[in-house]
Amino acid sequence: MLSRKITDGTEFVVFDMEWNQPMPGKEYPFDVSKLTGEIIEIGALKYVYDNGELIYQDTFSTDIAPVKYTKLHYHVKKVTHKKNADLLNGIPFKEAYTKFRKFCGDAILVGWGSSDPSMLKMNLEFFELDPKLNLFFLDLQPIFSLFAGLQGSQRSVEAAVDFYNIDKNEIFHSANADAHYTGAVFEEIFKHNKPSEVISAISSSSINPDVPSDFSFVGPECLDSISAFATSQNFMKDCPLCGKKLNVKISSFRIRKSQYALLECREHGELFSRTRVKKNKAGNYYAASVLRFATQNDYWLVASKKEEFDKFGEKGAPAPKTEEEEKET
Ligand SMILES: [Zn+2]
Repeated sequence: MLSRKITDGTEFVVFDMEWNQPMPGKEYPFDVSKLTGEIIEIGALKYVYDNGELIYQDTFSTDIAPVKYTKLHYHVKKVTHKKNADLLNGIPFKEAYTKFRKFCGDAILVGWGSSDPSMLKMNLEFFELDPKLNLFFLDLQPIFSLFAGLQGSQRSVEAAVDFYNIDKNEIFHSANADAHYTGAVFEEIFKHNKPSEVISAISSSSINPDVPSDFSFVGPECLDSISAFATSQNFMKDCPLCGKKLNVKISSFRIRKSQYALLECREHGELFSRTRVKKNKAGNYYAASVLRFATQNDYWLVASKKEEFDKFGEKGAPAPKTEEEEKET
């Protein structure tokens, strides 16, 4: 299974990182796409789950001295309120990561959004350390949206802090402050909802960041959209991890320009699929599909589209979706 069971004693490490970026236009003696950000700060809080509650355990904080992007990018400077001189106070990345990894133990990592684990893995790979985290990861953002009744929309951690009226006594966008706020939101989610429901949502949404969870397919050019949709069908047949035939949980249906389905591999869990047919410059059609291990947001998405399809058919609900909603799906 890709997700992890949560029982009394399960630990969570809520973490946040800041990273510096390459200077635009500057030449570097390495491939910048292999290091789109260099981590300069990690902040984390450890909790243990016990009897329906999250109990705070410990705090971790470290500054890292960058060796590739040693001057702060103006955007990072603005957002994090850091100065170039601050970068000198950090320790080497390898040392910082070793300490952080020790702090994590066997905990489930929790972050806001999914970019932190990928950035961490990118830095590990670039600096020739083992990129396997050997930890599960939970993106708290869609969990917050689910329990706040704001499904399908992406909110900042500050919006979640406001939602629960959490004291804003620290400036956002330092790794320590954002980890602290994310932890506070996590605690509130448990306080305001049935723990069993929270546990069920987070167990089904935690992913293993060491295995690919997202797969894509771009089909050949076709003369019409129906043939274009047909080219994507083979891509959805087998589990992308083990090759075994997928079971259908919600059979594929088309609403407006997208086709959705929910599939399942007995061993690896449930997969969300979406295919869109697009038109290229020559006027030909082609399919663009994604297949990914379903997260809370995906379950919600496929269920709400299915409901709309059952009610209104292929054309969907008459009122057009706002641009923002479309973007978020
Ligand atoms: Zn499989």
